[in-house]
Amino acid sequence: MGIEEKLPAGFLLTTVEQVAGYMRKSSVWPATFGLACCAIEMMAVGTPDYDIARFGMERFSATPRQADLMIVAGRVSQKMAPVVRQVYDQMPEPKWVIAMGVCASSGGMFNNYAIVQGVDHIVPVDVYLPGCPPRPEMLLNAILVLHDQIQNSKLGVNRVAAARAAEEAALRATPTQLMAATHDHGVSTGRSLLA
Ligand code: SF4
Repeated sequence: MGIEEKLPAGFLLTTVEQVAGYMRKSSVWPATFGLACCAIEMMAVGTPDYDIARFGMERFSATPRQADLMIVAGRVSQKMAPVVRQVYDQMPEPKWVIAMGVCASSGGMFNNYAIVQGVDHIVPVDVYLPGCPPRPEMLLNAILVLHDQIQNSKLGVNRVAAARAAEEAALRATPTQLMAATHDHGVSTGRSLLA
């Protein structure tokens, strides 16, 4: 018999972390922000067909000070990079970033000196969304993934412990050049390219 059986009906047991996570994930406001073609798909999630209002997120804030989600929709030019960072800095904590599309995630097909090769060079990214452009449904899925992250994020000493564990896991991870090939091109041996 657990404590739940001893309590009168109507009691709900949870943790402060879970309550804070629930409130935070249910009150995310994106910044009004679009850089290139991906922004058109981002705007589409505000239409009745996709209905981002189901999450209470239809209110795209016109000022970063009233936004806690930056959806980087489009390629980031070197010229825009300081502006993106300034907008991010002006958003209050806690805040989150979705890199929408292959350009924002990695520079995409624009492998040149004019484009930042991944917005994670200038702001920390929580969710990477692939595609060129990603469909509005894919952005909604990325938002659900982010909601899940927010719901399960740690607070206080748990947050410090989680950050340490993530850092240690990253240090233990196998570098990509040492990973076995995931598919055969006819010549791959899956051995280290450094060997
Ligand atoms: S990923 Fe494709 S649609 Fe999005 S900004 Fe880049 S080129 Fe445009």
